[in-house]
Amino acid sequence: MTRFLRLPLTAAAALGIAAPAVQADEVNIYSYRQPELIQPLLDAFTEQTGIATNVAFLSKGMVERLLAEGDRSPADIILTTDISRLAEAVEAGVTQPVQSAVLEAQIPANFRDPGNQWFALTTRARIVYASKERVDPAEVTTYEDLADPKWQGRICTRSGTHSYTLALVAAMLHHHGEEATKTWLEGVKANLARKPQGNDRAQVKAIWAGECDISLGNTYYMGEMLADAEQTEWANSVNVLFPVFEGGGTHVNVSGVSLTAAAPNRDAAVKLMEFLASPEAQEIYAEVNYEYPVAPGTQPSELVSGWGSFTPDDVNLMDLAALRATALRLVEEVNFDG
Ligand code: FE
Repeated sequence: MTRFLRLPLTAAAALGIAAPAVQADEVNIYSYRQPELIQPLLDAFTEQTGIATNVAFLSKGMVERLLAEGDRSPADIILTTDISRLAEAVEAGVTQPVQSAVLEAQIPANFRDPGNQWFALTTRARIVYASKERVDPAEVTTYEDLADPKWQGRICTRSGTHSYTLALVAAMLHHHGEEATKTWLEGVKANLARKPQGNDRAQVKAIWAGECDISLGNTYYMGEMLADAEQTEWANSVNVLFPVFEGGGTHVNVSGVSLTAAAPNRDAAVKLMEFLASPEAQEIYAEVNYEYPVAPGTQPSELVSGWGSFTPDDVNLMDLAALRATALRLVEEVNFDG
């Protein structure tokens, strides 16, 4: 059984002091990933190994919390989406490297840190949702094209400062540099049907409601909308289209895992990391989360495969993380959300 850590900072730290020596067969997790997404994975891990898991679900401040707890942190591993969050944890010194033949075999080299500080577990593409009624799929071609005046008043998106948007802008920076990226952001802003607001699904709802014709969103939200009775109509009003960068591929980001620097239950934690990279867990990610698994030989779900195939952009994930600060500055300079 998984227990849930819902303790204030001080209580969690106290747990870390009092408990680690007698709790050899458990793993403590700090997670930015939602409970319903990771619970099936943790249940399968416990069933297979007998190792219990405790999860603290956080919405922000994970690195600050780990820094504050220091050596006394009860956390063994962190789970998060977005390469910049993984890179931030490494930079802050709250992770440690893991040498594991299993992780090396199961996770392709471009999806793990060269220094073994983080390991990607899934990928997701940032794609275009387009109205079935009002957009010919052939009209959606490149990310660069989203700045073309033909889309004026037709695009909806979430905030420019959200990590999903910043990663896309960072990829644009990688391909075209700062000046062109700023011009692109101004062009996209000029094409917006409304000020950036809401999450990825809210944009698809807006397409369904006729407020805009295309939006940017992550692939797995299509699966989530189809699984939600209230949102199925929204999902059915759009096509999933895979734009590319000129001279590149479709923008992808990752979810991943790191071992914390403190890791009181190191051995059990590494077992969990290896389990999350196993074909069994990768299939759970694919089926339950509608994500793309990274392990060799594993496949996306039938539903996800049905949206089409794509070539992932070849930008290095660490380059994306490194360009995040510049991306944020440009988004603010053009007042993207204003
Ligand atoms: Fe998301």
